[in-house]
Amino acid sequence: MQHFDLIIVGGGLAGASLAVALRETRLRIALVEANPPRRPDAWDARIYAISPANIEFLERIGAWKHLDASRIAPIRAMEVYGDGSGHLGFSAYDSGVPNLGCVLESSLMACELWESAKRQSNLTLFSPAVPASLEFRHDAAVLHLKDGVTLGARLVVGADGRDSWVREAAGLKAWNTHYGDKGVVANFATEKAHHNVAFQWFRGDGILAYLPLPGNRISIVWSTPDCHADQLLSLSAGDFCERVAEAGQRRLGALELLTPPAAFSLRLMRVPQTVAPRLALVGDAAHGIHPLSGHGINLGFQDAMELARRLVEAQAWQDIGDERFLQRYQRARREETVLMQTTTDALKRLFASQVTGVGMLRNFGLSVTNRLPYVKNSLVRYALGAF
Ligand SMILES: Cc1cc2nc3c(=O)[nH]c(=O)nc-3n(C[C@H](O)[C@H](O)[C@H](O)COP(=O)(O)OP(=O)(O)OC[C@H]3O[C@@H](n4cnc5c(N)ncnc54)[C@H](O)[C@@H]3O)c2cc1C
Repeated sequence: MQHFDLIIVGGGLAGASLAVALRETRLRIALVEANPPRRPDAWDARIYAISPANIEFLERIGAWKHLDASRIAPIRAMEVYGDGSGHLGFSAYDSGVPNLGCVLESSLMACELWESAKRQSNLTLFSPAVPASLEFRHDAAVLHLKDGVTLGARLVVGADGRDSWVREAAGLKAWNTHYGDKGVVANFATEKAHHNVAFQWFRGDGILAYLPLPGNRISIVWSTPDCHADQLLSLSAGDFCERVAEAGQRRLGALELLTPPAAFSLRLMRVPQTVAPRLALVGDAAHGIHPLSGHGINLGFQDAMELARRLVEAQAWQDIGDERFLQRYQRARREETVLMQTTTDALKRLFASQVTGVGMLRNFGLSVTNRLPYVKNSLVRYALGAF
């Protein structure tokens, strides 16, 4: 058996950022990953809006400065529209911040974090590798890999995504609510400049977001009922561009498809216990959220940051796999996670409701919020991760 202090299963954004955040510690880390990340030739279809709080985290762990700046677009303002006359606008200028976040490709960050982890002297990489079984002993967690290698550590971290094998192997429950919706994603070249504004439309047929990319390019996420998503995917490139341009009120003129559209099924996933003796979950293994707030990986980075902080601060005599130690991590992350899940779920349901009167009320709510600087500012501060 090979001995470590910490085994991280899953080297996606949450797992790899946790590993890199621990690079200056004495912890001996094993990172187990089935499929190492790679950069696609063209623009990546999976694009994230990263909050300023997480940009700061990535700067602190030394990853941000190595990213290709020509592939990153700051968000200077955001315009949100209801399905009636409702409108809400935020700007970085009004909020006194340089930007409301940055938009960049998932694989850009994933490859940088992966390369940093590979160079880390306190880390051993097992990849491609897949776990076969996990046992919890009094003083260690023991992970058997399918290739016959056995790893032992005081703590195992499940960073293996929403269908987490680790969570399942540890017997931790996950409550899933399927929305019956898919997120349709694609990248486009735009006729008009976006001026680094992000747009979101709460429509009768779902929620459409335009995220600015460098140059005259955008990425979209259209969260919409399964049947409508399937219909959008079956359109020709020209018809799809026309539908997306029309749904976005032609704010950026005509659109030209850069990456073929793809779709992901959406669900809310609550995990009541994210720690157990010798086990902690981070990222999508610990929570699932509707993409309308764009907070999935933002929550995951905050999990990694918080767990890393606890591990860095642990005294030499402390057992990092002890449940009481891990519960402090769980408590610290619960409030933000539950609040974010509840708010996005409520917004999604509010705008999906066909009940008479609700439509008027939600549009009225958006417009009223737009005229209340304090409420608006609080929303911006929350989105920036300033609370
Ligand atoms: C349509 C859509 C749009 C989204 N938009 C945004 C957005 O704008 N902003 C945002 O913040 N989030 C967004 N998200 C959410 C975001 O994609 C996830 O939150 C994020 O990828 C989670 O990262 P993770 O590292 O926790 O998990 P993952 O990215 O799933 O990584 C898990 C890793 O574990 C590995 N793995 C899995 N099982 C095993 C195993 N058994 N053994 C070894 N390795 C394993 C995988 O290969 C993978 O590398 C979006 C999601 C969708 C579906």
